[in-house]
Amino acid sequence: MTHSISHLYQINDDRFSGLIHANARLESLWTGGRWTEGPVYFAAGKYLLWSDIPNDRVMRWDETDGSTSVFEQPCRHQNGHTIDPQGRLTSCEHGGRAVSRIEHDGSRSVLADRFNGSKLNSPNDVVVKSDGSVWFSDPTYGIDSDYEGHAAPSEIGASQVYRIATDGTVSAVVSDLVQPNGLAFSPDETFLYVADTGRTHVADCAPKIRRYPVATDSASLGAGTDYAISDCGLFDGFRVDVSGNIWSSAGDGVHCFSPDGDLLGKILVPEVVSNVCFFGANRNRLAICATTSVYSIYVRTRGC
Ligand code: MG
Repeated sequence: MTHSISHLYQINDDRFSGLIHANARLESLWTGGRWTEGPVYFAAGKYLLWSDIPNDRVMRWDETDGSTSVFEQPCRHQNGHTIDPQGRLTSCEHGGRAVSRIEHDGSRSVLADRFNGSKLNSPNDVVVKSDGSVWFSDPTYGIDSDYEGHAAPSEIGASQVYRIATDGTVSAVVSDLVQPNGLAFSPDETFLYVADTGRTHVADCAPKIRRYPVATDSASLGAGTDYAISDCGLFDGFRVDVSGNIWSSAGDGVHCFSPDGDLLGKILVPEVVSNVCFFGANRNRLAICATTSVYSIYVRTRGC
C-alpha cells in the first residue's frame, strides 16, 4: 500500500525503503535554466554537465566548490550526454542533427548525422555499449520548432532508435515507438530500455518505457514489451542502478522501478523532471534535471 514518509518520498513497495535514505533531502544545485536535460558526470574531473536546451548551452557544476558555470555556448543545442568506455563525452545535438564526441585532444567528431542518406531528426539521448557501439534515439523535438533547435521537416519521416557500429555504420534498431526518448541498457546489457514520449504528438500514446532483448549478435534487438507505464507525466530520460532498478524522470519527480517493472516508489520533485544520472565518487547521488533547475539527493544504491 502506498504511503509517504515525508513530502519527499512516496513508498509503493517496501523494497524502496532499502534504496533511499529517509533523512536525505533534496538539494538544489542550480537554477536559472529554461529546460535542463542530459546530465552526465565526469568522475576524474569531479563535475557534472547538463544541457539547457532552449538557451543553447551546456552547464558545468563543480563538485569541489559547488559553483556552476557555462561549459559551452552556443552548443548546437545539445541534449543527452554520456561518457563512453574511453571517457569521451558523447553528445546528442538537436541543432547539429548529429551524435558527436569530444576526443581526448578536445576536437569534435561527428559519429552520425544521417541514416540511409537522410538527415537525422534531432538526436535526443545516447548510451554506449561496452563493445563501443553507440545507441541513440532520434525523435523530432529539435526540429519541431526553433525553441530547442531549428525548425525543419523530417527527412527520414520516422522517429527511431539507431545503433552506430564501431565502423560507423548506422542501423535502425527500434521502429515501433512514436517518439523514442531516454534509453539505457540493463546492467548485463541483455536488455535495452527505451522511453516513448509520443503523447506530445499523439494523444492516445501511453507514456511508457519499453524493454527490448538484445539479440545474440549484440547488434539488433528482439521484439519489445511494455515495461512500465507512467501514472504522472512522461518518462523522458532514466538511469539504471547496479541492481537493475530503473530511476526514471516523470511529471511529479523520479519514479523507481524494479527490474520486473514494479513501481517501488517516487522521489517527489517540485518541477517536471526530464532526466537523471548517478554521480559522486560512489555514484550514490542522483542528479535530477527538472525544468529550470538541477537537484540532487543521496540514495542507498549506486549507478551502473
Ligand atoms: Mg530526452
